[in-house]
Amino acid sequence: MSSKLRSLLKKIYLNLTRHKVIDALKIKIMEKVSFKIAKECSYKDKPEIFETIFLETRTLCNGNCSFCASSRRYRHMPWARKDKMMPEKTVKKVLSELKKINFKGRIAFHVNNEPLLEPRLLKFVKMARKACPQAYIQILTNGLLLTKDKGEKLLKAGINELNINNYSDKLVFRENIEEFLRSMVPKFPNVKIEAHLRKETAILTNRAGSSPVGIPINKPMRAMCGYPFKQFNITVNGDVGLCCQDLFFKQVMGNVNKKKILDIWFGSSFIWARKELLKGNRKSIPLCSKCDSAGYKTVQLKQLPFYWSFLGRLAMER
Ligand code: SF4
Ligand code: SF4
Repeated sequence: MSSKLRSLLKKIYLNLTRHKVIDALKIKIMEKVSFKIAKECSYKDKPEIFETIFLETRTLCNGNCSFCASSRRYRHMPWARKDKMMPEKTVKKVLSELKKINFKGRIAFHVNNEPLLEPRLLKFVKMARKACPQAYIQILTNGLLLTKDKGEKLLKAGINELNINNYSDKLVFRENIEEFLRSMVPKFPNVKIEAHLRKETAILTNRAGSSPVGIPINKPMRAMCGYPFKQFNITVNGDVGLCCQDLFFKQVMGNVNKKKILDIWFGSSFIWARKELLKGNRKSIPLCSKCDSAGYKTVQLKQLPFYWSFLGRLAMER
């Protein structure tokens, strides 16, 4: 289905369902689905190693998304994050610890920032590839600064995926992205190169209360959330957040400059948060108490019977 048709159908569905009672029903469905997924995927408070490690090596973004507090449209706001960089020694420490455990999961250079604004990105990708030859290295970019030259260097350095979110309310690809895809997709058949159209002014989740246009919730959801079971998010000063929605890193689980990453991942803060989430107690975690995220992703819905998967998907749409 084309993205334009999907967007039209979504608009019709949302207009038909925009009502307080239906919103409350959607939340109930999301809560139930989140527990079903937790059961299906056997989530534990002390899970295996994280699937993805996200390194936010520079806080800046040049995107203009209305739903994101990192957007350039909010740079003048008193709460906007300052442009800061992660010291190289922090990146080296993290990579050397990943090397010791022969990390095979995903390494990405973003949380709520634009990786192509990081002048050391190519160097960091090469370091990551050397440290973890079997890891899956992903670059997720808004594509504003993507050129054939810049992208090709990253592809040659051994990334596994270059994923582009082309933000455009008119749902059209920018010229530089079309040109990049035309020339690089045939040249690198073994690398996943994808571009997706996304609306700059979409209404998404409230991003744990950080979204400037997010809708606050009346009371904490009683739902599980899978993020702290899978992700490890590090920002410039070495702080580790509870999840990628924690844009301001308010719920700090540890600091990689002071502790080993595995000690943080298996440490008391993460275990406590996971235990509370397994019980659906979002209310006991300050960050989660404000969050309206479903706590699951569409890909996980495939593990449920069709009707739950269908309902779970519809409930997430907003
Ligand atoms: S959603 Fe991504 S591209 Fe958009 S402003 Fe936020 S960090 Fe930037
Ligand atoms: S409920 Fe929200 S804030 Fe809490 S871990 Fe999940 S996504 Fe993050």
